Amino acid sequence: MVRRSNEKRKLIGELVKNAKAMIQAGLSQTTRTCGQPSCACHSDPARRHGPNAYLTFRAEGRSSGFYVAPEHLEEAKGAKRAWDEFWQAATRVAAINREEMKVRWQTARKARVGR
Ligand SMILES: [Zn+2]
Repeated sequence: MVRRSNEKRKLIGELVKNAKAMIQAGLSQTTRTCGQPSCACHSDPARRHGPNAYLTFRAEGRSSGFYVAPEHLEEAKGAKRAWDEFWQAATRVAAINREEMKVRWQTARKARVGR
């Protein structure tokens, strides 16, 4: 029980740390053709522009997204990773809470029955 509450404290620390940076979004990287018909990108797929990165997400029921400049790509990846880690820690905390609740209820029941 002590070990579990230590783990829980550590996990809650991870939740707080990740909550500060996390974003919930997909990261897609696509190449594209430009507006100049004479540009090589129109005839040779290998010479398309990019890849350009976009964060994609749903907001208010609609698909949305925005461009990620190359200098922000690592930050975007880190923010996505923070969400994954937040979710994993939250799932673990929820499992510990469930187990603690079960034990607490069983203990209360035994105390009642034992009276
Ligand atoms: Zn082009």
